[in-house]
Amino acid sequence: MLPKAVLQRAQAELLDWNGTGTSVMEVSHRGSDFMKLARKSEQDLRTLLSIPDNYKVLFMHGGGRGQFFTVPMNLAKRGNIASHLVSGEWSKIAVQESAKYLQTEVLAENSLIDGVVKAPSLNDCKVSPDSAYFHYCSNETVNGIEIFDRPAFGDTPVVVDMSSNILSRPLNIEDYGIIYAGAQKNIGPAGLSIVIVREDLVGLEREDTPAVFSYKEQVANFSMYNTPPTFGWYLAALVFEWLLEQGGLAAIEQHNIRKCDTLYKFIDNSDFYSNNIHESNRSRMNIPFLLANSELDEHFLAQSHKEGFHALKGHRFVGGMRASIYNAMPQEGVDALVEFMREFERTQG
Ligand code: PMP
Repeated sequence: MLPKAVLQRAQAELLDWNGTGTSVMEVSHRGSDFMKLARKSEQDLRTLLSIPDNYKVLFMHGGGRGQFFTVPMNLAKRGNIASHLVSGEWSKIAVQESAKYLQTEVLAENSLIDGVVKAPSLNDCKVSPDSAYFHYCSNETVNGIEIFDRPAFGDTPVVVDMSSNILSRPLNIEDYGIIYAGAQKNIGPAGLSIVIVREDLVGLEREDTPAVFSYKEQVANFSMYNTPPTFGWYLAALVFEWLLEQGGLAAIEQHNIRKCDTLYKFIDNSDFYSNNIHESNRSRMNIPFLLANSELDEHFLAQSHKEGFHALKGHRFVGGMRASIYNAMPQEGVDALVEFMREFERTQG
């Protein structure tokens, strides 16, 4: 979900952006209008996340999965081993991709105790000293597992896939070597990826790294080695402005905590719905839940769809239901969902 105000602004500006008489998709990415947008959007993102000067910000193609191979290719000169934590479907896929380029070790996986799923504590992972980097996913979109720990791995750079929780709360950027995210959750449209990379990790790529996926090339060319995904970049710029207007990430975090508390409390107080993720790992963005009687799943989905709730079907890997409540979802959306769920339980339970 994107903020309605952003979509309305994009709609209003579609045929005449910035007084140019054309849409933003039709202007040159190297022209002064787009360059101004590019610079301002980077500055706004830096303000939102308090990104220090020794970190570069890249706007690249390829979404989240694009970084699954871009990271190992670009850090290959740091060593042959990539150390990964697996906490769900996306971090599992990241391992498969990484293994094509580097020796890839899985340091830890989730535990299942009394039916409750828990991610390993980040800092219990023992990274070998010759590891090129430590990789994890801070929010498993499919499984609804979020890792809130602050990583501390000494000299080993930490690489994090934040595709589905970036911009949902303030971060200490210096805890990370590389933060990457596909845009289509809290940033903008699919296809764009944002990479925040510490300067000393730029320039360590394999010789055969394609130039469009080389951090070094993209840093040297201000993310314009090739034509960037300009419309996605433009929408991301509008989302950054919107976030600043909301009061920044400290404010959006409070909004997100309120929303997910509403839903988790309701689920926990019901015998009809359940969520089996350990409290310390419950995602604020993606809330999977099961019905006590799975034969009612299809009916639940059909009925909710009729009432205007979209995309409640759980991912095909895990089944059940999943409510994704990204930044742009208002509290009223969650309240309405809870009301629907209560009524469904009353009539079907
Ligand atoms: N990582 C995470 C955490 C994701 O949620 C997704 C997509 N949902 C991806 C990676 C892959 O992103 P993309 O489809 O943009 O390649």
